[in-house]
Amino acid sequence: MTKEAQPSFHPASAPDFVPAPLLRKLQLDRLQTIVKHAFENVELFRHRVESRKLRPGDINSLADIAKLPFTTKVDLRDTYPFGLFATSLRDIVRVHASSGTTGKPIVVAYTQKDLDVWTSVMVRSFAACGLHEGDIIQNAYGYGLFTGGLGAHYGAESIGATVIPISGGNTDRQLMVMKDFGVTAICCTPTYFLHLIDRASQMGVDLKSLPLRAGVFGAEPWTQSMRKHIESVTNIQAFDIYGLSEIIGPGVAIECPNHDGLHIFEDHFYPEIIDPETGKVLPDGEEGELVLTTFSKFAMPMIRYRTRDITALVPGQCPCGRTLRRMRRIGRRSDDMLIIRGVNVYPSQIEAVLLEVEGTLPHYQIILTRAHGLDQIEVQVEVTPQVFSDRVGALEALAEKLMDTIERVVGIRIKVTLVEPQTIQRSEGKAKRVIDKRAQS
Ligand SMILES: [Zn+2]
Repeated sequence: MTKEAQPSFHPASAPDFVPAPLLRKLQLDRLQTIVKHAFENVELFRHRVESRKLRPGDINSLADIAKLPFTTKVDLRDTYPFGLFATSLRDIVRVHASSGTTGKPIVVAYTQKDLDVWTSVMVRSFAACGLHEGDIIQNAYGYGLFTGGLGAHYGAESIGATVIPISGGNTDRQLMVMKDFGVTAICCTPTYFLHLIDRASQMGVDLKSLPLRAGVFGAEPWTQSMRKHIESVTNIQAFDIYGLSEIIGPGVAIECPNHDGLHIFEDHFYPEIIDPETGKVLPDGEEGELVLTTFSKFAMPMIRYRTRDITALVPGQCPCGRTLRRMRRIGRRSDDMLIIRGVNVYPSQIEAVLLEVEGTLPHYQIILTRAHGLDQIEVQVEVTPQVFSDRVGALEALAEKLMDTIERVVGIRIKVTLVEPQTIQRSEGKAKRVIDKRAQS
């Protein structure tokens, strides 16, 4: 397809622009259907609803959703592997599982129709990023039990792009393919892309000379500073995509070219923001924990699933014309929070400081230890080769500056150690930013 013939609007995006009153009506219809389906087929949900003296027929408005019980990650663990399935195994055509850090993974399931919904939201995601037929998409999300690889894969195929199912890892080959195949867009975790940037510069590959123009980055929170860095060393427009396996995988929400929050595909996923302490629903604009309900997933409906992600719904309409509400980019998860000497510390706050100060590289680790019963925290960050080859005084001054800035933002003084480029272990998937050695000390 020639450049002139490229469509600017993909028909699959039509539901993004449905007038709000119609969207609300559709949401209520779908909510009633899915609540009834879950009530009839998921024992845990039925018991909880009954114990509140409720019946599915009591849901008569969208606000009534607040009467329903929450679902948590613990519920998924407790019912491992198939306890929350709402259809017979014969109707389930695929399962995925999260790579749980402790014990058993979390298993999620899809009927063919569920997969079709997933593909459709991925098509709408790519379309919002300006991708279309003729694009060459390098899909470096991991293929396998993780939802990232296959989720992006089917969406990219369905939009008519040429998909390179390269999966994660083998960085040199990734760069060779990117260059030789004329890749125009890449999907991966933002930290893996940083690694690709690094390796490209070592190999003398100028990413700005390639046709690569879009990056769809997700599966972990990333900061505005990281976006600036990525966009300064490539010609990429970087898009944040949000999703989680429990809800469907990637494709729950996506940035449009305005980059002012992520549009939630509300015709399939209903967002609420709650106070994580009280569980009370908060109005649009207020920050709290994101709770999602799936309207269109029948193998494993999730009603009021507590994501642990902290965000807010953005009030007002986006200039792009989408009627779908937006959520602010996830800066932190409620369970990411570290409590150090009584102070709440979020790794994303530290990251933002590190990336704003000249001379550091976007590779860092936060190391927690315990000495004499007291928690100790140290940040190790790589600095540019120039800084490292500079006189010792320059290194000390930079460390001092970082410690001052972090103290101003976080409220406690944290030791910062500057390390040589390439010292910190690289990640091919989600980065491990926090190394907690407290149990060993
Ligand atoms: Zn928009």
